[in-house]
Parts: sequence; C-alpha cells; structure tokens
Amino acid sequence: MRSWPLPSSSHRDVPTSGPGSFWEDRIDRRHCGVDLYAARGSPVASVEDGLVLEVGVFTSPRRTAYWNATFYILVQGQDGRVLNYAELERLAAAPGDQVRTGDLLGQVGQVLNPEAIGDEAPPYIQRLRDGGCSSMLHLELYSSWEDSLLADRSYSGGNWFAEERPEGLLDPSAILL
Ligand SMILES: [Zn+2]
Repeated sequence: MRSWPLPSSSHRDVPTSGPGSFWEDRIDRRHCGVDLYAARGSPVASVEDGLVLEVGVFTSPRRTAYWNATFYILVQGQDGRVLNYAELERLAAAPGDQVRTGDLLGQVGQVLNPEAIGDEAPPYIQRLRDGGCSSMLHLELYSSWEDSLLADRSYSGGNWFAEERPEGLLDPSAILL
C-alpha cells in the first residue's frame, strides 16, 4: 500500500508535463524527478514501507548561490527500487531505520533563496521566483541503490547535465498517481 508523501497538503497534483515534471527539458539540463510544491515545514512521509539507505546534503549555497542548504533521504522499497526524497530542511529518520507507509521522513525545506536569483540564473529558476515557489519536495526514483546519480559528476541538485537518460533513473509519477 502506498500513500501520498505530503500528508498536510491539500492537493494531489503530480506534474506530468512542463514545469516540475519528470525529465523536463531545462535547456542545459534535465529534471531527474518530480516537484511537488508545498509550504516550507510541511511534513514529508514515506510513500511505502522501506529501509533508509542514505542521507546527505542535497543543495548548498556554496555550490550555487541561489540555493539554500537542503538534505535528501534515500529509502529502498520492498521491490528494491529506491526513492530519493530531496530538498528537505530537516530529517526525521537515519540510515538503517525501517519505515512504514506514512512514517515521517522530514520536512519540506526552502530550496531557493529568491533574493539570490538574478538574471544569470536559469530561466526555470527565474520562473519559480516570479511564481513565488521556493519550497517543494523533489522526488526521484531509481531501479536500485547502485543506480543513484547523487555522486555522479553530471548530476547536481536534482538535474542531469547530459543528453542521455540514465537507465536506472525512473519516472516516479507512476508511484504517486
Ligand atoms: Zn526538482
């Protein structure tokens, strides 16, 4: 059984095309997950039973000026596939933890710092600023832990800076819809 990852959110919108959708074309990069907009501090819950594999820093202003510090948490489901819950500001589980459907994993962070978004920022980032969207759950799905792109040089902050789509990167929409 699966549940929606943002229990306090009134909407159940999964972008399937355009901004925030999986593999969205952002000109010089591709989007590796789906963005579910939610207020900063919203609880993020596990969509299924699983094992927490890994946690770490996802974005940092030291890497990109318009980013705030956020974190990610990788959870492996019983079928072996791995969900990456990212752009969180606080984590509520640690590697080795078994989680059940609906268990708290963390809280939605404010990934973007609107004051630091200038004209040199990518267009999709400027559109988010203009739309007042600076906090969201960025959710990715991998075939296995080994397929995670987090340590890859072509990956940064949920984006893939190469043309070819990595084989183990899956569309998470199917798990949510
Ligand atoms: Zn995203």
